[in-house]
Amino acid sequence: MVRDSQSKSTKVVGVLALQGAFSSHTRVLDSIGVSTQEVRTPQNLASIDALVMPGGESTTMSQLLESSELFEPIKKLIHEGLPVFGTCAGMILLANKIIDGRDDQVSFGAIEIEVQRNAYGRQIDSFEADISVEVFESPFHAVFIRAPRIVKADKAVEILAKFGDDIVLAQQKNVLVASFHPELSPDRRIHEMFVKEI
Ligand code: GLN
Repeated sequence: MVRDSQSKSTKVVGVLALQGAFSSHTRVLDSIGVSTQEVRTPQNLASIDALVMPGGESTTMSQLLESSELFEPIKKLIHEGLPVFGTCAGMILLANKIIDGRDDQVSFGAIEIEVQRNAYGRQIDSFEADISVEVFESPFHAVFIRAPRIVKADKAVEILAKFGDDIVLAQQKNVLVASFHPELSPDRRIHEMFVKEI
């Protein structure tokens, strides 16, 4: 059957909607023809084929993940291979190790990176930069907001883009992370790349 190019894909991308910039991700996914499901309860996980974890405040999201009883089922799904994409605070939630986190802050330990929260200092705690992404022909304009820095990455982690010496876009198996906010740029290429892998 020939699909109408305007019709939505049959895959559903969940967007963790506990706190933060989730609606911008939903808008971007919608604009590239992907069906979305906001995830607030364990029941919402039943229908998703992938999950986006947005930027926001990772300490708050960590608390809400536990109080909503989403933490354990999401952890299990990631372990089973669910494609996930974490941006900024979402990247912190997926990391193996968090520096300068709250003592009770949890993370999924889904990608072997060590991240330092709010690591770009006061002067440039928010900034924009053109970064070159391995697989793109032209630079991607990236928006960094109180961004975490990847201070260490295992060699199993694939580096997709750097800003100076810092890795800012990386992947390990089913886990994609960005220290910036691709949902705030008009450029859809990173979301398209994620969706293609589902
Ligand atoms: N500094 C935030 C945190 O630790 C992340 C910032 C963001 O997502 N824009 O959660």
